[in-house]
Formats: sequence, structure tokens, C-alpha cells
Amino acid sequence: MSTVLVRGLHKSYGPTEVLRGVDLEVRSGEVTVVLGPSGSGKSTLLRTINHLEKVDAGYVAVDGELIGYRRSGDRLHELKEREVRRQRTRIGFVFQNFNLFPHLTVLENLVEAPVSALGVPRAEAVERARRLLDRVGLADRADAYPRRLSGGQQQRIAIARALALEPKVLLFDEPTSALDPELVGEVLDVIKDLARGGTTMIVVTHEIGFAREVADTVVFMDGGVIVEQGPPAQVLDQPQHERTRAFLSKVL
Ligand code: ADP
Ligand code: MG
Repeated sequence: MSTVLVRGLHKSYGPTEVLRGVDLEVRSGEVTVVLGPSGSGKSTLLRTINHLEKVDAGYVAVDGELIGYRRSGDRLHELKEREVRRQRTRIGFVFQNFNLFPHLTVLENLVEAPVSALGVPRAEAVERARRLLDRVGLADRADAYPRRLSGGQQQRIAIARALALEPKVLLFDEPTSALDPELVGEVLDVIKDLARGGTTMIVVTHEIGFAREVADTVVFMDGGVIVEQGPPAQVLDQPQHERTRAFLSKVL
């Protein structure tokens, strides 16, 4: 059963084709780590999966339901705004820079979306939020404002906030790139814990050790295409393509 299915995805910004036919399948409960040089299209891929970008061709299906855009004859059918918003609640997104609501407490950061987007009763949303804070080891910071927390703590809150919508899949775009080195581990530990619990995830990262330990599939992107993909031991230790070897020799 695939949770995310991407087929023939093309995306251009003006004359620049950023995604040039991407196919990707992420099975339920599996973790896919996406590697690739800067500018290869990794963020654009995540953003199209989450409807933050429109695509020019191809489609994305999440949990068996077609989302995004579908080719029918020569026409691309767009989803209605309302449908896009609904489907977006099924996809969690964790950004490099946390993007917490600065004017809300930690607890309210987790309660807001389930109440406003899903209509979860407030008491239930609060209870769920407390459970999630406990899960990321920050139960005692529920009433703090984000600016009082370290970057690592803010990112753990951002992960908990994404989980509060009980998404089908979690997307991470370089979740530790903005952190001081000593804070990277605590965030990766939370993601590893989710992986063990069977959360379906796509993680863009340069943390090769993490990829080796946690990924079911490693995907290497370059120039808007997936150059190769497979189990970590294959892609990281026996890369088939020169571009993959060149990239790995720089980051390992
Ligand atoms: P990555 O995340 O792998 O570094 P991105 O997906 O961010 O790559 O970007 C891929 C390419 O698309 C880059 O060349 C980037 O400059 C370009 N790009 C990304 N977003 C935009 C945008 N909104 N407008 C124009 N070009 C963009
Ligand atoms: Mg990026």
C-alpha cells in the first residue's frame, strides 16, 4: 500500500524546469530520505506534494486519493481551493525554520489547527496536544512562547504540531539545517522515534548517518530528476551513478 505516489511530475519557474519528470512511491509506514545538491529540486518536490506549488504535469496521490493535478487529455484539472485545504490537513510539513506561531503558546500552537481546520473539540485537541508534547519530551513547556525555547525545542514543537492533525504522511524539509550542531541530535531522535512507531515520512536532509540508520529508501536527486533510489546500503555504499558518487564524496 503506497501512502504517497508521485507520477511524471513536471514543474517550471518561467523558462527553468525544476522538476523534470519525477516518479516516487512511499509505502505506508516507511521512511524515504531525499538527498541531493542545492538547487536539485528537493524543496520543490515536497512543496508540490503539499500543494504549496502548482505543477505543470503529472500527479500526486496521497493515501490512494488523487491530489494535485491530473492529466486528462491535454487538460490539467485543478482541484478547488476547498478541496486543496482539506487534503492539506492530511499532510504534515516541517520546515527548516520551524515556523511556529510566535504569538501563541506552545500548547496553542498545537491546538489551533485541529480546532480550526478539522473541527476537533477544544478539550480533545488540548488533550491530544499534551500527549504529543510528552512524546517530544516537552510536556513542561506547554505554556511557554516559542521565542523562549531553543531551536531544537522549537523544531520538536513544530513536529508535534504537524502530528496534531494526524496526517497520513509527514514531510520534512531540512529539519536540522538551521540548528546549532549540538541541537541536531535531539530533533533527529524525535524523527527516529516516529520512524520506529511507523509514521510515514519523507525527509530531505544532508544527515547521511541518519539516512543510513532510519531510511527504508534513499533517493538521490540532481537536476530535477531522481538519479537513483534504493535501500541505504545500496545507494550510500554502492552508488551506481557518477553524480551520486560525486555528491556523497562531498558530504560523507
Ligand atoms: P533544493 O531544495 O534541492 O535546493 P529547490 O527545489 O529549492 O532546490 O530549487 C530548485 C530550483 O528551482 C533552483 O534552481 C531554484 O533557484 C529554483 N526555484 C525554486 N523556487 C523558485 C521560485 N519560487 N521561483 C523561481 N525559481 C525557483
Ligand atoms: Mg531546499
